Amino acid sequence: MEPTDRNAAKPRLTHAQWKRRKRLRLARNWAILILVCAAIVALMTKGILWLLPKVNAMLAGPQSFDAASYDGTGYSFDADDERFVLVNTNLPFAEEPSPALADADEASGIQLEAEAAAAYQKMAAAAAEDGIALVLTAGYQDADARSAAYETQKQQYLEKGKTEEEAASLAADIQPPAECNDHGTGYAADILSTDYPTRDTGFDTTRAYEWLTAYAAEYGFILRYPQDRQAATGVVFEPWHWRYVGVENALAIRASGLSLEEFLALQKAS
Ligand SMILES: [Zn+2]
Repeated sequence: MEPTDRNAAKPRLTHAQWKRRKRLRLARNWAILILVCAAIVALMTKGILWLLPKVNAMLAGPQSFDAASYDGTGYSFDADDERFVLVNTNLPFAEEPSPALADADEASGIQLEAEAAAAYQKMAAAAAEDGIALVLTAGYQDADARSAAYETQKQQYLEKGKTEEEAASLAADIQPPAECNDHGTGYAADILSTDYPTRDTGFDTTRAYEWLTAYAAEYGFILRYPQDRQAATGVVFEPWHWRYVGVENALAIRASGLSLEEFLALQKAS
């Protein structure tokens, strides 16, 4: 058999045809190159735009909670404001208070004075939006509940071998006797978080405490027993014990850097 010539059937191109085919190929190759480049640029841009905020968030760390600035203009002190009710070891209740209560936390049924309860709910909802899960662990307590809390605290010191007098004094630093306990006012709220539900000073290292420090005053709550203020309050630092006094009062007290005792004394003196 004769070997077939593959090119035999193919007609030879004229010079003009050959030039035309060359131009077409060149145009096609350029088109492909441009399309591939465009696709690469598009993909890279998309990737960078996707990555940038993530890298940024990683470098910046978690969102920081900063209190809005407050200059105190327009604040007027009202000594008769009921929300200023003050009770401590030197100033026991003259008579057992009977605040108008409302549920501050429906799940637990913990109650606060009605205005404070509404403020707490608003605050907890705002915290949740910032990813902070506040937990209300105590609110209003009647005389029996306050007595029981004090006795439990005192008992713990007696079991540690303290005398009756020592145990009573040590317990009062943390858990005032019934007639001196802020929780009787209905304005006191023990607030912790789902990731730190223990009532100890370690709560002050949490994001929840950072959030409360920045924003609680905007909802009318102040830290009732601040650090280094035991000489004025009679109670050790309790980062979980917040006290409702109303928004304007809370902002003014926080700006003063004073405890409730010191703030009231200063305002009444001026
Ligand atoms: Zn408390």
